[in-house]
Amino acid sequence: MKIYISGLYSGPNPSPGLGIARSLRLAYPDATLIGVDYSNRSTGLHWPDFDELWIQRPWNELHLVEYQQQIKDLLDSGNLWISGLDLETIWLAHALGIHTNLLIPPSTALSKVAKPTILAAKFLPFKIPPFIHTGESDWNLHAFCRKHGWHVWLKGPYYEARRVRSWIELRQARFELSQIWSTTSELFLQAHISGHEESIALCAYRGKLLDCVWMIKRDITPEGKTWSGRVSEVPEEVLYPLREIIQDLDWTGGAELEMIRDPSGTLWLIEWNPRFPAWIHGATIAGSNLPGRLVEQVTGILAKRTTTSDPEFVRVVLEIPIRPQFPLPPLPEPSPSSFGLLLKHPSGMPMLARRLFKTREKNRFNNSASEGVPKVPDMVLSDLRNCNLDSLITPCRLFLKTTAQVAFRRASDLAARLSNSRIQVLVAYSIKTNPDDCFMELAKEYNLLVEAISQLEAQKALAKGFAPDQIILNGPGKWWPSKVILFPLRAVFCDSLEELEELLKQINNGMRPAMILGIRLRPPQTASRFGISVSDYQNFEQLAFLLRNLPPEYSLGVHFHSASSTIGTDNWWHLYESMLRWSKAIEATSGKNIQCLDVGGGWFPDDWASELDPKIEGAISKASQALPELHVFMLEPGKALVQPSMALAVRVLEVRRFKDQIKEIVVDGSIAELPEAPFWPHRMLCLNSTGQEWEPLRRGNAQIIGRLCMEGDILAEDIHIPEHVQTGDMLIFCDAGAYDRSMSYEFGQG
Ligand SMILES: *Cc1c(COP(=O)(O)O)cnc(C)c1O
Repeated sequence: MKIYISGLYSGPNPSPGLGIARSLRLAYPDATLIGVDYSNRSTGLHWPDFDELWIQRPWNELHLVEYQQQIKDLLDSGNLWISGLDLETIWLAHALGIHTNLLIPPSTALSKVAKPTILAAKFLPFKIPPFIHTGESDWNLHAFCRKHGWHVWLKGPYYEARRVRSWIELRQARFELSQIWSTTSELFLQAHISGHEESIALCAYRGKLLDCVWMIKRDITPEGKTWSGRVSEVPEEVLYPLREIIQDLDWTGGAELEMIRDPSGTLWLIEWNPRFPAWIHGATIAGSNLPGRLVEQVTGILAKRTTTSDPEFVRVVLEIPIRPQFPLPPLPEPSPSSFGLLLKHPSGMPMLARRLFKTREKNRFNNSASEGVPKVPDMVLSDLRNCNLDSLITPCRLFLKTTAQVAFRRASDLAARLSNSRIQVLVAYSIKTNPDDCFMELAKEYNLLVEAISQLEAQKALAKGFAPDQIILNGPGKWWPSKVILFPLRAVFCDSLEELEELLKQINNGMRPAMILGIRLRPPQTASRFGISVSDYQNFEQLAFLLRNLPPEYSLGVHFHSASSTIGTDNWWHLYESMLRWSKAIEATSGKNIQCLDVGGGWFPDDWASELDPKIEGAISKASQALPELHVFMLEPGKALVQPSMALAVRVLEVRRFKDQIKEIVVDGSIAELPEAPFWPHRMLCLNSTGQEWEPLRRGNAQIIGRLCMEGDILAEDIHIPEHVQTGDMLIFCDAGAYDRSMSYEFGQG
């Protein structure tokens, strides 16, 4: 009996070859085990259970057709092959098809277990975590990350996952993974699931499930790899459907299903690997020798039974001598960046990926014209058509009038729709987001309040015709530079206990700063420098004590502002519920009822429409159930109203080509006019080849760089610049109406 076993690396991220060999050695002490790998750096090749080794040239040098024939000859003459490498499995399944002695699944089955959809798992009692393919536009990818609060992973099509916490990290990880795996569109983003990791390992032959075990990981490495575990039986509610699925798939060989059990007990399936897991010998220790069972089925030769059955196993680190015919390779040139990276993929899977997908990817690029294109609202396009762009001196901001009007009108409609005899809903436009007159005037026209963070902003509001009771004052520096406003304002929210104490003193002295006296709470679950920290006992006690002195003619308000565009929309709703509970605690301890709840701003425009708008009515009624005297509910949107309402027009200064493709264009705009360019994807437009219609730029390999002499002045990366673009052409950056405007600065203009 001769068995070829591939995937010999045994390091922090091991392949299963060594575990398979150890298990087979127990089952068949006299079998000849031949280790196969594609690098002499795969450490497990020195393991003594391998009787022979067959080390190949690296995948980029290997003659695949010849190699395929060699393997076929081996199989034909009765040798068995168990692959421990996913990509080798995929290649063999395509190259050799089904063969009695080739112990891997057929290619039809492989496509049904591919990430992230894992179609085959449809009838298993597991859920698939939400995901999005990176072929989608950057705009949509960013929306996915906001939805999941940036608890997301970027994953390669076969191996590797990177946790990404921001747009900058996402772009960096996308660049690296697409280089490693030679694909740009077959990566995907997946929501992180918190919980414990569990696995199923199984073996099957020609659709017959031979054996399977359940394993709960008890210790994992920082990379999430098993370090110890507990093996048990697969419960019946999984076993029955699994048996049927394995039959439908006509599965042969090993497999591992990797799951996460969340705190509610739900199991989320994240991987279905077409091979044994690296911890497979842990199952053998527990009494289920799956590799042995598989070989027994194919050969009909009884496997020696394992006598031990300890359900728990640990891993240890072992030093073993190397085989003299495979000495260690020479040390590489020292380089700070390659430190520790050499052993990441010793079996050369990225090289095989490059060979297997080179042709496929080329086809993809050719017909990817619709891929990665963001949708730009028709209203923005029609606003642009109404702008006179011909004689524009660029860079120049464009006010998109209808887009702005519609946004303010919708906010005003929302307030009207949600107000009733018990609760008044008020929308206050955040002045700092963009203090331009056009927006102040729209806020006035549509009867919104305004929210100011300084006396200068409040003064501007008064000058624009807002009455004091249409102004909300917020933030840590709201009395700066010197108190000018007329009292009483609609609401003042204290940022600290000190400020609250001071205001109460003034009230005692007969002043009336506002109709609603409020406090801003610092939520315990998000890091923030603002507001009164309620999670600190002494602070909370002091707060309750101070509030007891609030005269009865004042309404008590509670405010929080934690941008859902940063913490994620799902998390924002959790935060909202938590703020209601804190509010009840404040009522209980201060003896005062809360009459006003202000939930701040921080909504990305699309999320305001898709998340807040449909859910806010239910949220308000929850609040009025929790707080019996609540009669004012306030929202303070800034960017939700104005971000899409301005665009930035720039002109091309230079077009730079590399190998006949546009790689870079220099424009006369810069991060001084678009300071948020690096932090989230702006939609961009250029005129089509006829010069008549604006069309969105899709993802590609070029970048748009600004006029400034600064490394960081990059306005867009991973973007496709159409061939007809030339010097002097105009480009439009959409979504530039919020902080891109208010935080812009003058730079490099003499
Ligand atoms: C800045 C700010 C807002 C508006 O935030 P956006 O992100 O522009 O929606 C609302 N409320 C307060 C207290 C703020 O500081």
